[in-house]
Amino acid sequence: MRIVILGAGYSGTALALELVRLRPGLRPTLVESSARFGPGLAYGVSEERHSLNVRAGRMGAFADAPNDFARWSIGTADDAFSPRPAYGRYLEALLDAAHERVERMHGRAVAVSRANGEVAIRLADGRTVAADHVVLALGNPAPARPAFADAFGHHWVNDPWDLAARNKLAQRDGALLVLGTGLTMVDVVQSLRAAGHRAPMIALSRRGLLPNIHRAPRAWPPFLDDMQGAKLAKIVRRVRDEVDRAAAQGIDWRQVLEGARPSVQALWRTADPATRKRFLRWLRPYWDVHRHRLPRVPAVQVTRLRRSGVLRIEAGRVLAAERDHDSVHLTVALRGGGEIEHRVAGGINCTGPDHDYGRSQDPLLVQLLRDGLIARDPLGLGLVVDDAWRVVDAAGEPQAQISALGPPTRGAVWEITSVPDIREQVAELADRLTSGA
Ligand SMILES: Cc1cc2nc3c(=O)[nH]c(=O)nc-3n(C[C@H](O)[C@H](O)[C@H](O)COP(=O)(O)OP(=O)(O)OC[C@H]3O[C@@H](n4cnc5c(N)ncnc54)[C@H](O)[C@@H]3O)c2cc1C
Repeated sequence: MRIVILGAGYSGTALALELVRLRPGLRPTLVESSARFGPGLAYGVSEERHSLNVRAGRMGAFADAPNDFARWSIGTADDAFSPRPAYGRYLEALLDAAHERVERMHGRAVAVSRANGEVAIRLADGRTVAADHVVLALGNPAPARPAFADAFGHHWVNDPWDLAARNKLAQRDGALLVLGTGLTMVDVVQSLRAAGHRAPMIALSRRGLLPNIHRAPRAWPPFLDDMQGAKLAKIVRRVRDEVDRAAAQGIDWRQVLEGARPSVQALWRTADPATRKRFLRWLRPYWDVHRHRLPRVPAVQVTRLRRSGVLRIEAGRVLAAERDHDSVHLTVALRGGGEIEHRVAGGINCTGPDHDYGRSQDPLLVQLLRDGLIARDPLGLGLVVDDAWRVVDAAGEPQAQISALGPPTRGAVWEITSVPDIREQVAELADRLTSGA
């Protein structure tokens, strides 16, 4: 069977490797548009100062060897937060060890079509590749560009991982707007400082919530298994009760959250559309800052920057942005009421990936949607897949020859962001593809 995987970040790379582990003669093809195969966006564009937000002992690429990465990075403790580029090098090393058992093809896929029982993939340079099965492992798209960004002209950086644009922004004299207050904001603020920016930075989000800090995890038994299909308020109440019960024993809420995690995908799958919508509207920001936590070192740096007045966290939204000579005059409506004015020299978008494919300009996604081969998740969380990760087309039919993997499948299970979640999906998909199901 000819399997072609579009995207060679963690998801695509881990799938290719798992396929050849299960079926050594398979020789899947990885198609990747960037120069490196393996690291992807998450581990390819980071700097050594950016650390993983999952402990080394849990970052192994394969479901049956969670501590493989810690073992590979000799001298690294299981509970350490390694530099992110080290994880990129680990993935490259795994791929190199597979030699020619995994074929690598450098290029950008721009179209996928079906004809005569096979799938054809067209690349931007005009080449075509034929496959029996194609896997979309396209990863995390850039954030949505806010309308007010136009006032910033060239001094707005919409892709926070564009190193050249970020470094140019760091050279601006004057305050900067950092839109978003999550993990990406923390990375970007550190990078801007390291690149020489010395003026204040205003980090703005609707609620002004910062990620919580990691603490040593210990096991807490799953406690939400019987809540499938329950109302959101009931689930939240159960979590609160469990946190209180733990606190009474001197146990931290983070442990309780670890006990909730194994149930999240099943809860999402069984939630009706109204419940999912309510979660996204009311709970998501709180879930994000508790679930996606910061290691201690960057957390301390953020605290220092705030104390020194370099970094200011604000809760609110931009009401107006007006160009004034070489800077932008911002009016921010504060969450607690009232308005505040800022003069900034530039801005950078750290609001996180925009998975609403209806807004995507990516040629491949535009073509797939236009030709009805994929359907946009109704809540803007990627594309629609069935329980076996088969892509569901515009007519609602699962496609036997097209699957999806990683963040694009978020609409189906919600919790499919980090390696420990994606590697379970990798194992399931590899099993299906090699068993011919
Ligand atoms: C900055 C950042 C840091 C993170 N840190 C962690 C962490 O510490 N721990 C953790 O567990 N998770 C982390 N994550 C979560 C991350 O989603 C997963 O860990 C994982 O890396 C996702 O891999 P991926 O391959 O699905 O996506 P990506 O890493 O986005 O890779 C997708 C790849 O597909 C390629 N591609 C896209 N479109 C095409 C096309 N049309 N043709 C050819 N190639 C294409 C891209 O060039 C890219 O290389 C982080 C995410 C980000 C963004």
